[in-house]
Amino acid sequence: MCCRLGGAVARRAEVIGIVEAGYPDYFEEVAPDVYITRWSNNGVCPYLDGSRCSIYEMRPLRCRAFPVFQTDDGSVFLALCPLVSTMSQKDIVALRDLLAQCPLNELRIAGDYLRPHRKTIQRRLSIFQIQQLASASASGTMIEMNERMMR
Ligand code: SF4
Repeated sequence: MCCRLGGAVARRAEVIGIVEAGYPDYFEEVAPDVYITRWSNNGVCPYLDGSRCSIYEMRPLRCRAFPVFQTDDGSVFLALCPLVSTMSQKDIVALRDLLAQCPLNELRIAGDYLRPHRKTIQRRLSIFQIQQLASASASGTMIEMNERMMR
């Protein structure tokens, strides 16, 4: 899903790692240390090869956190893709914690970059059921999901 919503957001070190591993550089620097894959193929990430990520081992942090994702206001959501049924609560918490390592400002910058394509992205997003991850315990072992469904 994330792979068809405008592409990947990354930091300089991640882009350097991808390029040094021999993959093509499809990123554009949109602000200092904020990179996003160039809009192409109607918002499908240029690293998507069929149904698989061609840089899977090197994919940026936000890609690794999926199906947990964030919107540019800081809200965190879980996309109810088939993968979720194979995941434990602990797995979901771990992905949420991974996402917390990503600076929010990069998402705001990416959001500005993608603004002209917002309708396309919203249309694609609207076919998925999404739950907001409302809160988590201090120990990180429990996660509460509210019932707000976005369709
Ligand atoms: S880098 Fe890979 S996982 Fe990330 S959006 Fe692109 S295809 Fe998907």
